[in-house]
Amino acid sequence: MKGYQSWLVTATCLFSSATASPSLSKRTALDDCLSSKKVPVYTAGSKDYAQAVKPFNLRLPFKPAAAALPTTVQHVQDAVACGVANNILVTAKSGGHSYGAHGLGGEDGHLMVDMRRFNTVTADAAAHTAVVGSGGRLGNIALALYDQGKQALSHGTCPGVGVGGLTLHGGYGLSSRLHGLTLDNLLEANVVLANSSVITASATQNPDLFWALRGAGAAFGIVTSFKFKTYTAPENNIVFQYNLQPSTTDQLATMLNTLQNFTMYGHPSELNMRFFVPNQLTGVYYGNRSSFDTLMNPLLKQLNITSTSSGQVSVKSWLNTLTANSNGALKQPDVYDYHENFYAKSLMPEYLSPAAMTALADYYFTTARRITGHSWYLLIDMHGGSGSAISSVSANATSYAHRKTTFKMQFNDRIYPDTATYTPQMMSFLNGWVKAIEDASPGVQFGMYINYADTNLTKTEAHSHYWGAHYDRLVSVKGVWDPKRVFEGPQLVGS
Ligand SMILES: Cc1cc2nc3c(=O)[nH]c(=O)nc-3n(C[C@H](O)[C@H](O)[C@H](O)COP(=O)(O)OP(=O)(O)OC[C@H]3O[C@@H](n4cnc5c(N)ncnc54)[C@H](O)[C@@H]3O)c2cc1C
Repeated sequence: MKGYQSWLVTATCLFSSATASPSLSKRTALDDCLSSKKVPVYTAGSKDYAQAVKPFNLRLPFKPAAAALPTTVQHVQDAVACGVANNILVTAKSGGHSYGAHGLGGEDGHLMVDMRRFNTVTADAAAHTAVVGSGGRLGNIALALYDQGKQALSHGTCPGVGVGGLTLHGGYGLSSRLHGLTLDNLLEANVVLANSSVITASATQNPDLFWALRGAGAAFGIVTSFKFKTYTAPENNIVFQYNLQPSTTDQLATMLNTLQNFTMYGHPSELNMRFFVPNQLTGVYYGNRSSFDTLMNPLLKQLNITSTSSGQVSVKSWLNTLTANSNGALKQPDVYDYHENFYAKSLMPEYLSPAAMTALADYYFTTARRITGHSWYLLIDMHGGSGSAISSVSANATSYAHRKTTFKMQFNDRIYPDTATYTPQMMSFLNGWVKAIEDASPGVQFGMYINYADTNLTKTEAHSHYWGAHYDRLVSVKGVWDPKRVFEGPQLVGS
């Protein structure tokens, strides 16, 4: 795969004695170190180990050098020290949902530190804050927050996703236009650094690290807990879904243009919406039915949705709103065992030109809709624009580099059965779709979202697409907090 450099290349840059894949003696020394410090580990070869290293994306079954399962902050500190002492890269895993299996390191040979035991949630409903362990899953966190004074946090839609990776690189969901990304709601983080010390990062304590954590966090340390700003869960929410029926390239391009204009200029923060190309418009409105109708009717007319039978609109409580937009129940099991086999890409345009929208639509009609045997989707989230809380944060306030993004676009192609081989040739379908849009946009470099990691990107492409103008500053912050590059990965800052 083009984007994945070998362990040799990566490690040579970091530690003078690192080798292509940690030798048996090095692994043994790592195991001995973890054992001497009493850091709990998954025993290689056991059922628990197999489960712990099974990635969400089965296409990328990387093999760690060892897998630690800390239950205390001291264990995390000791695990990091053991990785450093043995010149083995260290990687935190939270929910394991990285599209590039970055929670395993994104390549073979890392010391994986599984944070799943750090899963407590303590809310202060009066203060509207909550301290959340970094290894929890979104569904469990939402339920715990609600239990403790009907609190809520702006986060992603899938309940199995880990709060660790989500928060440290973005965190977009169906309240983000009103309450921002998950990282916008972060007040402070407790972090184990490369030198094994523990510090707090916030707006007033270690602010440069706090800036870097909010968009590129995996490269800077292991977060053990987050303190978030929460809000009182809204109860009577309008959950909607409409069916669109474009039958030509022109019709689909016109719909995209309508949605883009609406997102940029007419989309209030109370409305959160996404478009599954070519025919499903879904979302949540935090307000009453009559203001929803006043807002949506003109838009629906422009999208040629005139019949009431083309849509479903219902009023739901907060927990039912989350459930309606997730892929299952909110409650997540202690041992998580749902996986997919897929390749994905993203685009984060500030603006799509008419030519780009035509190229997108044309590729759908000429290519995508003819694809058989795969389960693909193109999801466009109405991310930015004048009414979005995400865009109202200044571009340099966090290292998240996509404040001006209008459409957040995810291209996702899954194959069945999960055990099948996703060949490099299969990537040409989505690569071709993105290329068609890029070719129709000369002179434009689109951003991409690391939380939808594209394993086909080279390091340089990943750095510039994920972090754009923030990359150089991120490298200098990395030099301060992780000068020996302990927290590395094929696409992370400084790799
Ligand atoms: C089914 C599905 C649905 C999704 N839905 C959304 C969505 O609605 N909105 C959205 O924005 N994204 C969504 N995503 C993308 C998701 O946000 C990213 O994949 C995210 O990185 C997953 O975090 P994780 O902790 O589960 O993954 P992991 O693979 O465990 O970690 C991802 C990265 O974060 C690092 N990391 C994890 N924990 C820590 C920690 N404690 N300290 C330091 N670094 C850490 C890892 O080292 C790795 O680099 C979805 C992904 C999937 C698979």
